[in-house]
Amino acid sequence: MPHSTPSFCQRHPKALAGWRCNTCGAALCPECAVGRRVQTVELEACGLCGGDARTLSIHRGVVPLSHRLKKAWRYPFSAAGLQLLIALGLFLTVVSWLTEMSFLMMRAPLIALYGGLFWATFFGLVRESARGDTSLDIPDFNDVFRDAIIPGLRGLMVFVLASLPALAYGYLAHRGASAKLDAFAWFLQWQLPPGLLSDPVFWGLLLVGGLWLPMGLLLAATGQPPWRMLDPRLVLGLARGLGSDYLLTTATLAVLVLLQGVAHAVAGGLRALEWLVISRFLSECVTLVVPFLAAHVLGLLLYVRGDQVGYGDARDYLEPVLGSTRPLRDAPSLHAMGGLTEGRAEPGSPPEEAPATRVDATEQLSALATAVGARDVPRALELYAALEQLPSSRVPSEHHLFIGQAAAVEGNFPLAVTALERAADVAPDSPTAPRALVMLARVLGERMNDTARAEEVYRYVLHRYPDTSAARYAGERTRLTSD
Ligand SMILES: [Zn+2]
Ligand SMILES: [Zn+2]
Repeated sequence: MPHSTPSFCQRHPKALAGWRCNTCGAALCPECAVGRRVQTVELEACGLCGGDARTLSIHRGVVPLSHRLKKAWRYPFSAAGLQLLIALGLFLTVVSWLTEMSFLMMRAPLIALYGGLFWATFFGLVRESARGDTSLDIPDFNDVFRDAIIPGLRGLMVFVLASLPALAYGYLAHRGASAKLDAFAWFLQWQLPPGLLSDPVFWGLLLVGGLWLPMGLLLAATGQPPWRMLDPRLVLGLARGLGSDYLLTTATLAVLVLLQGVAHAVAGGLRALEWLVISRFLSECVTLVVPFLAAHVLGLLLYVRGDQVGYGDARDYLEPVLGSTRPLRDAPSLHAMGGLTEGRAEPGSPPEEAPATRVDATEQLSALATAVGARDVPRALELYAALEQLPSSRVPSEHHLFIGQAAAVEGNFPLAVTALERAADVAPDSPTAPRALVMLARVLGERMNDTARAEEVYRYVLHRYPDTSAARYAGERTRLTSD
């Protein structure tokens, strides 16, 4: 299945195809596909031959990072972004106030907590944005060491590593010019030796550090151990995998650094107003906007290109071509089509030989395929029962799914559960699997009143098949049931 170029409809060459028929292979636009509702699960079928249609997916990268970045600035001002901004702003205000109020001894751990809170949230945001989700809650800090101190150290380390070569060079090469300057004054009081700023080597090292910095942050956010951050082969390989988007991200972050300078100036002004704690809180919030954006931008880079560097599952990077667009027309329900044969205008299914004759499994399987193709529910159920002793993997998952749907419609819920479970089992990587599981959860929850098991299945769909319409559906259901 090619995922990089979209297909066009077989009958409407200018319309993007959102589905492909499993039977006749036609690419289908919303006009040529038909929707089919089973219970309340939406499925699609081919409008040309009536076969089951599968949703076509395409790589997220068809919407390039450059395009996504144009909308990225909105993130800190979205409902989810503002909520997190205010929560973290409050936390940091309290911690920084405590730091000022406390004895000297207590300051170091409080400063570490402040940095840890900040970096834990930053790295969390990178990961959430990389999943295409931006509804991060403040980490719950059950374990202060793991949830705050470690992320804080990682964040600090990345910045130290990025600036160390330039600073070390500056110190060693330009020490002679001002012999009295010791390293301590150098680093802590920013007394730059004369001549340093006109030294191209210093700027070159600074540039290298700046180019590495986004990679360091990405590796830290994804929990890579420190030595991997400094493995030149790994870093260069990753940079090559991310390609020009890495440079685009780095350039965007450079602009954000300048913006952060402005934010700090504004924050200083706010603090100078001295509206007690409000000044402090507002200034914390103002200085958080740019870091939030930076984390979101880094996450977006992984969201679009992460599969090229082995981040996450390659399947996660595929999305339905037409998003949530549905076929324009709906097919008559499965019940009306299959239940009884009188109204059926289907040309297939010639009168079949009596099932009493002992046909072998292969013949029965092809008879099942014919019955499913003709949507002949009674015949399909009969053949399915006859194939019971065969390993379920011999029956294609679409046929299990068909039986599951049909059994659910007919009220045979135990059979529906069995068939739907098999549909997901025999081809867990096919698009049929998440659809079968959602239907399974519905049968369990709404027909058999087993909400606990239904919930379990919905959660599994969310976890195993994120970014599918089934997962979106499951997400809505679990939210409804957990409220
Ligand atoms: Zn077809
Ligand atoms: Zn069409």
